[in-house]
Amino acid sequence: MVDFSHKLLSWYENAKRSLPWRNTSDAYKIWLSEIIMQQTRIDQGTPYYLKFIKTFPRINYLAKADEQQILKLWEGLGYYSRARNLHKTAQIIVDQYDSKFPNNYKELLKLKGVGPYTAAAIASIAFNESVVAIDGNVLRVASRLFLIEEPVDKPSTVKTIRSVLQKLIKGANSGTFNQAMMELGAMICTPKNPKCDSCPVSVYCLGFAGGKQNKLPIKVGKVKVKQEYFNYLISDLNGKTEIIKRISGIWTGLYQFPLIISNDRLLNQIEIETSIKDNGYGSINNLTASPIIKHVLTHKKIEACFWSFETTFINQKKDAIIIEKSDLLEYPFPQLLVNFIKGK
Ligand code: SF4
Repeated sequence: MVDFSHKLLSWYENAKRSLPWRNTSDAYKIWLSEIIMQQTRIDQGTPYYLKFIKTFPRINYLAKADEQQILKLWEGLGYYSRARNLHKTAQIIVDQYDSKFPNNYKELLKLKGVGPYTAAAIASIAFNESVVAIDGNVLRVASRLFLIEEPVDKPSTVKTIRSVLQKLIKGANSGTFNQAMMELGAMICTPKNPKCDSCPVSVYCLGFAGGKQNKLPIKVGKVKVKQEYFNYLISDLNGKTEIIKRISGIWTGLYQFPLIISNDRLLNQIEIETSIKDNGYGSINNLTASPIIKHVLTHKKIEACFWSFETTFINQKKDAIIIEKSDLLEYPFPQLLVNFIKGK
C-alpha cells in the first residue's frame, strides 16, 4: 500500500499540471475551483476561476455581490443553481462561520451545494484530513485498478471503492493523494484508451493485468434525454425589447426572451403570429425567424427558433423588463441565448 501511494505521489509531483488553484491551502480558492471545475473541462473552466478570483478575491466580496453579477460571470458554465448556491454558501460562511470555512469534512458537508466529493476535496487539500474525494475520474481509475465489475453508479460500489481508497490514503498526504488520483484519471487513465504503458501504478492494476481496462468502468442507467421545442419572441419597439427574469427551473435568476414551448415541433409563422397577438403585442412588422438552433443539456435536447419582429406596443409581462437591445449583453442569459445574441 505504501509503495502504491509512493509511486502515485512521486509521479504526481513531476507530472502535475500547473494550475492556478494548486499550491494553495486556502479553502476559499479550493472550494471555488472545485465548484467551477465540476461544470467543465479544466481548459474551459480556468478563465472562469481567474475571473471569479479577480472579482471576488475573498469570500466576503462574493457574499456581498449582487446575484446578477455572479450569474453574469458564470454565464456559459450551465447548472446555474450551482452559481446561486455558491453565493448562498459564501453568505452563510461570512454570517455564521466568521468568514472561515469549517475545517472538517462533516461540517463542510452541511454547506449548501457542497456534496461528499467537494467536502472531501476541501477537507483533505486545505486541512489535510484523511478522507478520500471520489468523483467520476476517481471511480473510473479505481474500477480499473481493483477490477471492479459492478456498476460504479451504484451506491454499494461507491462504498466499496471508498473503503479501499480510504486504506490507501492513510499515511499519505491526503490532499496530494486525492489530487494525484484525479490527475491520474485526467491525464493517464482516461475514459477512452488509457495510457497504461505510461501509468505509474500499472504494476498494481488488476484491470490492466486482466486486459479489461477498456471495458471498465461499468455503468447502469443512462439518463433519459427529453426533446423540447423553444420559440422565443424578440420584440423591437424603437430599439427596445422585452426580457423576463426566470423565477424557476435550472435557469432561475437568468433572463430570457418571452418563450413559448411547443409540443412535438417548432411553431410555424402563422402560429407565431397568433402567439404574438395572444401575448399582447401591438401590430407586427418584419417578422423573421432565425435558423433552428440545437442545444443539448444533460437531461434535454432543445430545438430553438428566435422570432424577431418590430411592434408598436409591448404589453410588459410579470418579471419582465424593457431594455435597449444594445444593452442585452449586460444581463445574464443561458448560453443558448448568449450564442444567439452574439450571432454565433
Ligand atoms: Fe488506468 Fe491503465 Fe493505469 Fe490501470 S494501468 S490505472 S487502467 S492507466
